[in-house]
Amino acid sequence: MEPSDLVVIHIDESDNEDAQTAAVQQELPQKSVSVDFSSLSTQTSQQNDDESKVQPTLKYADVPSECVEVVEDEEPSVGDFLNHTGPIHGLQVHEGLLYTCSGDNTARAYSLVTRECQAVFEGHTNKVNCLLVSSLPNMPAHLYTGSSDQTIRCYSTKGTKCLEQITLSDRVLCLHIAWNILYAGLANGSVASYDLKTLKHLDLFECHGPRGVSCLGTAQEGARRVLLVGSYDSTISVRDAKSSLLLRSLEGHTKTVLCMKVVNDLVFSGSSDTSVHAHNIHTGELVRIYKGHNHAVTSIVILGKVMVTACLDKLVRVYELQSHDRLQVYGGHSDMVMCMAVHKSVVYTGCYDGTVQGVKLNLLKNYRCWWHNCTMIFGNPEHLSQHLVKDHSNPDLQAVKCRWRGCSTFFGTQQSVQEKLPEHMQSHVETDSEVQP
Ligand SMILES: [Zn+2]
Ligand SMILES: [Zn+2]
Repeated sequence: MEPSDLVVIHIDESDNEDAQTAAVQQELPQKSVSVDFSSLSTQTSQQNDDESKVQPTLKYADVPSECVEVVEDEEPSVGDFLNHTGPIHGLQVHEGLLYTCSGDNTARAYSLVTRECQAVFEGHTNKVNCLLVSSLPNMPAHLYTGSSDQTIRCYSTKGTKCLEQITLSDRVLCLHIAWNILYAGLANGSVASYDLKTLKHLDLFECHGPRGVSCLGTAQEGARRVLLVGSYDSTISVRDAKSSLLLRSLEGHTKTVLCMKVVNDLVFSGSSDTSVHAHNIHTGELVRIYKGHNHAVTSIVILGKVMVTACLDKLVRVYELQSHDRLQVYGGHSDMVMCMAVHKSVVYTGCYDGTVQGVKLNLLKNYRCWWHNCTMIFGNPEHLSQHLVKDHSNPDLQAVKCRWRGCSTFFGTQQSVQEKLPEHMQSHVETDSEVQP
């Protein structure tokens, strides 16, 4: 058993909140989210009666708004972002930089173009569970980090100076910004709020104690501002953002809610129970369930008509929102995927082993595995090759018969399994992996 498999069991133990905080996902700042809403507004409201065939194409208009705000001369590159030495708990793209935070107690900023580390944000004395980069109008961007050292730090992104440090009553598991208010979800079930401009403390809401708050979201209900609080108690509470009055509880998950994404009237939530649920925020109704993950869902990104999910089973999946169909899978990860962001058609993922990578999201190119009884469709040929060698073969085997559609080539010695089979599989990937026969 690999060491990472041991961790999988550990991290999925829903009573072990300390381990599970690992999988907390960062939320986009409100400014970006509101732009997201407008680009999605027609789709979600028409989901039930729109019968037209949805084309799984990714346009720039479907990409989260931060891409649109920033004009960059050079295209982002794909590949690895190095140097973190602990699990990656959060990442966010902001103005040409990829910000990451880690169990190594630091946050970092990387150039999207060169993938070089441009800044290291230090000072936390325990793991950094979450981060947010946000700027008020006419103000330079600030990086906010929440840590198990029970503090939030605010850094200048011009340089790495820590401008402010806030001490809280428990470990900070998630951060969210809306209406110029910074919300922090804590391990003791409370949500603390701060004025974003002054960082003056506003409120402390008791929400899910003694179970931790794993993720936060916000929405509007008429004139009322609504706070969504995801918890280790498997529910999402919908509250008045001013008074914290409990309006309703969104139920259905059987294990920890790890991440959420609000899109108009819907909130999509990923859970340790391996599913994604979509609830109507205002009625509390569970409107759809997305299945097919083999482990906890740690991050959700909605891009127009598709949903991208990150999972502790090391895969990123792309679903068609309306039909629930799984369109594609992306692999290439050496460990559990803890967090994810999508920017300019690049999927950025952070893993438990500290690796961070960017992979091109291409919904127009599919590479299907035609191995007997396998239905995986990859968006990247290298990921299909890795899948074939890892999941349909084993270097320890003495003999392997190729079970690719229409092929029955036999490799009768361990040497041929190790030396000839990978090359043989590669030829299937290159010549025979179209989705349509
Ligand atoms: Zn396969
Ligand atoms: Zn073959």
